[in-house]
Amino acid sequence: MSILMVANCPGCGKVFQKNLRNLCQDCVSNLQNEFDVCDRYLRSNRKATTEQLSEAVGVSVKQIIIWIKDKRLPVTDYPNLTYPCNSCREPIRQQEMCYPCRSRLTKDIREMQEKDGSRVQQGFGFRSRVGGRF
Ligand SMILES: [Zn+2]
Ligand SMILES: [Zn+2]
Repeated sequence: MSILMVANCPGCGKVFQKNLRNLCQDCVSNLQNEFDVCDRYLRSNRKATTEQLSEAVGVSVKQIIIWIKDKRLPVTDYPNLTYPCNSCREPIRQQEMCYPCRSRLTKDIREMQEKDGSRVQQGFGFRSRVGGRF
């Protein structure tokens, strides 16, 4: 007996047999078509921005961003493809956040760790009681 794994397609809501791409066959081929259209448009409009591309081909900015992050649309080839930083919405082209936000975050984390570190040292005297190891 084989068990069919079925789910509602997140693209169109239809019930479909689960697969690796987690989309029904219709949506997979639609998406492939959309990608081909984007790809073709970019080949003749290398300088297009994400918004221009979205408007020109009728594919949502959200979907285009997924392709940029997947590196299916290589930003090295297309200088104006960007997406907003997770933190400040500045246009970026790699990772989830722009450089200033990332360095601010690293600094915050470091400060937090330093604070934690000093707390651990202060509390060291009664750690043996709390931990119950000794
Ligand atoms: Zn579907
Ligand atoms: Zn930012």
